[in-house]
Amino acid sequence: MNITAPFGKTLDLIGNTPLVRLAGPSEEAGCDIYGKCEFANPGSSVKDRAALGIIRDAEARGELRPGGTIVEGTAGNTGIGIALVANALGYRTIIVMPDNQSSEKMDTLRALGAQLVLVPPTKFADPNHFVHTSRRLAEETEGAVWANQFDNTANRKVHIDGTAAELWEQMAGRIDGFTCAAGTGGTIAGVGMGLKERDENVQIALTDPHGAALYSYFADGELKSEGSSVAEGIGQGRITANLDGAPIDTQFRISDEVGLGWVARLLREEGLCLGLSSGINVAGAVELGKKLVAEGRENPQVATILCDTGFRYLSTLYNADWLASKDLPVFDWFEQD
Ligand code: PMP
Repeated sequence: MNITAPFGKTLDLIGNTPLVRLAGPSEEAGCDIYGKCEFANPGSSVKDRAALGIIRDAEARGELRPGGTIVEGTAGNTGIGIALVANALGYRTIIVMPDNQSSEKMDTLRALGAQLVLVPPTKFADPNHFVHTSRRLAEETEGAVWANQFDNTANRKVHIDGTAAELWEQMAGRIDGFTCAAGTGGTIAGVGMGLKERDENVQIALTDPHGAALYSYFADGELKSEGSSVAEGIGQGRITANLDGAPIDTQFRISDEVGLGWVARLLREEGLCLGLSSGINVAGAVELGKKLVAEGRENPQVATILCDTGFRYLSTLYNADWLASKDLPVFDWFEQD
């Protein structure tokens, strides 16, 4: 890795994450699979990028003024990113989150100084959904802006300008495929658009968890979900503004069991402790690699996103009792004394 000169500002630590070749997934796919280490951002997730982009955009539009407040509905990581960026820039943060997310995320948000509002998980059509609750709170709070990560395209812009550009440079302009799952869709759409601008032959694949509706949307044009997933931060049921126009060439649907299998292997074999969306992304990248090999591309180069740190899920994914309570496989090393 290059050792760079000291950064002048802490916010410059967001982005420019390392890219690493993943040995197990590469072997399984029969080609090179790379993971972009988004857990290396200051808030330990890919969402620091969106937080910074959305806040800078609100400032530029004159909506967010000194001492103002940022309100957002989030599964957690965006809130953590917003709270860190807001602290660095002197803003207040109010975060609305469904109460079924990991307790680590709730404790982290409180520790970072965000005001946390927990709501019961419910359908998007319900006015009490965390997204709608956050919009109302922003309207009712003096000097507040609503980050609106799902439909604010300042989100995907950071991935067009940042993540895609970095991947292109890190892979020296030789990328055959990219895939990841969608929460807001900012990452898949933005990276997809940014890479296609540079090379239209890069295959962009959506990797969907069970319980989300995008796999069937891109396969058959119908928003329809099947099954469920415990993965946090991913699984979308509608075409958000960030997803609108995303250049998706193909799609995969990955189960929690398969995603967890990669979470376990990446930890045991490669020393990476990651969340489940990363495991699902890696499973999708292996599928994409196999597809490109089958299509005759020579040693295809495939990239995906390692979205957040597994330390955020010690009470869930890395807890044998929790896994058993969800009827998910408990991996052997959890059972050692
Ligand atoms: N993984 C995790 C852990 C996340 O928190 C998110 C953000 N919701 C994503 C993946 C998906 O990113 P995006 O919102 O850009 O689709």
